[in-house]
Amino acid sequence: MSALLRILKGREKEIVRLLGEFVRCESPSHDKAAVDRMGRTVAREWQRRGARVRILRQAQAGNHVRAEVRLGEGRPAGQILVLGHLDTVYPLGTLAKMPFRVANQRVWGPGTFDMKAGLVLALFTVDALRAAGVQPRKRFVFFWNADEEIGSQSSRGEIEREAIRSDAVLVLEPAYGRDGCLKTARKGVGTAELIVTGRSAHAGIDPSAGVNAVHELALQIARLMKMNDRRRGITVQTTVVAGGTTSNVVPEHARAKIDIRYSHLADAPKIDQRLQSLRPILKGARIGMRGGVNRPPLERTHAVVKLFHHARELMSEMGLPLDEASTGGGSDGNFTSALGVPTLDGLGAVGNGAHSLGEHVVIRSLPERAALLAGLLATL
Ligand SMILES: [Zn+2]
Repeated sequence: MSALLRILKGREKEIVRLLGEFVRCESPSHDKAAVDRMGRTVAREWQRRGARVRILRQAQAGNHVRAEVRLGEGRPAGQILVLGHLDTVYPLGTLAKMPFRVANQRVWGPGTFDMKAGLVLALFTVDALRAAGVQPRKRFVFFWNADEEIGSQSSRGEIEREAIRSDAVLVLEPAYGRDGCLKTARKGVGTAELIVTGRSAHAGIDPSAGVNAVHELALQIARLMKMNDRRRGITVQTTVVAGGTTSNVVPEHARAKIDIRYSHLADAPKIDQRLQSLRPILKGARIGMRGGVNRPPLERTHAVVKLFHHARELMSEMGLPLDEASTGGGSDGNFTSALGVPTLDGLGAVGNGAHSLGEHVVIRSLPERAALLAGLLATL
């Protein structure tokens, strides 16, 4: 491990330089041309390293990139899947107010932490394994999707197909907290939208002729809040509301977006069923519910704990600590772990401020995390 770390520390400047190139290539999920450009940039780096690269073209979403690497001799004894995403939550032009910069031993910019640093680490990990002459037994598949930040609808099937063929899944999403904890549990995630239809009327002259959609929505939100169950790890939050037209009209339309998180796969059907079973409260109101649970939870199974302990052992060989954490945020690791494939998440850079103006990564962590990934790929 220390030899790998030494090699990677020697390349720290190049790691930062390539991260700069990736961050300057803005890649919001909804802009296909932009995220495809990012995919080509990443694909080029893998081709340079002799990987078998395939671009998975999509009609609407951005294209996904699959890079296969075989470093050992002979027939591979299995496959390890490494996951990451090309897209970010930042619209084009964000760089103007949030430029890529290096300061205070950190790298700042949109998508540095979540998760272009992870994409860069994977490339240097393969370089380091080669330089150290390591002959891993397994084949590696690096899968970079273009729609993780918007639910991975177009990539989920492919990710699941690769996961089933794999002995383990390593996810290069950002590490948790200042100490760079790995994520051994993630909540499942869902999004829903409640649409209410009432009847408009003059709010002053004849309100009883109308059905107030905003009133109905408020009553429904109060009901939804009752679904929160701290003990079971279920949260249901109404996050965006809209309704009404002008102050003297009883509103005919109202809608709300709902964020759902849950800890146990077994709760998913119950949550969906409760969402679908809501009935109107005011006479004459109509309601419709769209969506529901999407990502299953990443549960802290025995296999996950075993993987984590192995990672901690590798870090301790470099004289570095490693801890674990659970998070309410979901990732594509949720899909793979729900299939029963041991999944270790949060292997990306250490930093802070994902999805915010202050997004950054700690430079020192970059060679360390790359060495950890190299160690895992070499020994799993
Ligand atoms: Zn991410």
